[in-house]
Amino acid sequence: MKLIFATSNQNKAREIAALLPDNFEVMTLNDIDLHEDIPETCPTIEGNANQKADYIVDHFQLNCFADDTGLEIEALSGEPGVKSARYAGEDRSDENNMNLVLSKLKNQKDRTARFKTVIALRINGENYEFEGIVNGHIREEKKGTNGFGYDPIFEPENCGKTFAEMTLIEKNQFSHRARAVQKLITFINEKF
Ligand code: IMP
Repeated sequence: MKLIFATSNQNKAREIAALLPDNFEVMTLNDIDLHEDIPETCPTIEGNANQKADYIVDHFQLNCFADDTGLEIEALSGEPGVKSARYAGEDRSDENNMNLVLSKLKNQKDRTARFKTVIALRINGENYEFEGIVNGHIREEKKGTNGFGYDPIFEPENCGKTFAEMTLIEKNQFSHRARAVQKLITFINEKF
C-alpha cells in the first residue's frame, strides 16, 4: 500500500519506511510532485497535523499521514506551541527563538515545558491520531550543540542534560517524535 508522508524531508520518510511492513511504500511530497508548502493555519498542533493530512486527501485522494510538533511552556500559556518554528517572527532562527523564550522566562520559577508531536493518519477513508509527549523544563541557559530547534534549552525530566547534549541515537530512544512514530507503526503493524 502506498502511504504519502506530508513532508519533503527524505530522511524522515526513510526512517519511518524502514519500520513499516514490507507491503507499505512510504512516499514524500516530492514523489507526488507537490513542491509548495501545505497550509498550516490552525491554532493547534493537532489542527495543523490534520490540516496537512486533509490537504493530501482532498487534492490527491491518497492514503497519507502528516506530523506537527511544538514546544509548550506552562508559564507562557502553552507558547510557542503551534508557533514554534516562527516564534521570533521575522527574525526567526533557532537562536532567536530560544533567546525569546529565555527572555520571556527571565525570573520565572515555573519552567515546566513539554514537546508534543501529533501524527494524523488518513487510511482507507478512516482518520486516526497519534501523540508523543516528552515532559521536562526550560534551562536558564543554552547547553549542548547537538540537535536543532529548542534542543539546547530543553531538559527532559530525569535526564540531567538537554536534548542538545544527547546523541541522536539517545534522543531518538524517547523523543516526542519517536513516541508518536512508534504509536503509528505499532498501529499499522497490528491492523494491516
Ligand atoms: P515541525 O512541526 O517538526 O516542523 O516542528 C516545528 C518547530 O518545532 C521546529 O521548527 C523547531 O523549532 C521545533 N522542534 C520540533 N521538533 C523539535 C525537536 O526535536 N527539538 C527541538 N525543537 C524542535
